[in-house]
Amino acid sequence: MNVEEVKLLHAADQRDQGFGSSIVSLPAVQITQSPVEKFREYLVSRATPQRFTDQQRDLVEQVFSHHSHFDADQLGKDLEDAGLNVSRATVYRTLTKLVDAGMLRKLEVGTKTYYEHDYGYPQHEHLVCGVCEKMIEFQHPAIEAAIEEISRQNQFQMIGHTLIIRGTCVDCNRARAANRRLDLI
Ligand SMILES: [Zn+2]
Ligand SMILES: [Zn+2]
Repeated sequence: MNVEEVKLLHAADQRDQGFGSSIVSLPAVQITQSPVEKFREYLVSRATPQRFTDQQRDLVEQVFSHHSHFDADQLGKDLEDAGLNVSRATVYRTLTKLVDAGMLRKLEVGTKTYYEHDYGYPQHEHLVCGVCEKMIEFQHPAIEAAIEEISRQNQFQMIGHTLIIRGTCVDCNRARAANRRLDLI
């Protein structure tokens, strides 16, 4: 592999911006094709090859510009803020295709559907705060090992897994404790 062809996505960044924010700190995975190239390849490899439109290209570039957990509405808003004209129907259709292409992963949290990178990003799990909706990513070798062992025991060919731990984050816990103290005064 030509070293220059290896692109790195998602330089480690740590973001914590309050409501609905993500804490993202996992190292990037090396990829050999840009997301745009990979999606183009997916479209032409369909039984009925599909056209790669400018709107789809704008969307793919926006989605893969940084790692986050987002929903369709948020992406529509981000595209609009960036001055890009992508219809709502295209946002929904393209997200479905990106999941099918193995480039995005879908996370169902309660009644909401979030998306995040699968392509160029390592396997990980989430803690989700029910109060501020913050998602904290983590990796744990013992959990990975247990899931592989359970699959083996059931002669189950695993293609992926999603573990979501629901609860309350440290900030919201502190805020609750502070409110309780105020109630006692
Ligand atoms: Zn919280
Ligand atoms: Zn994640």
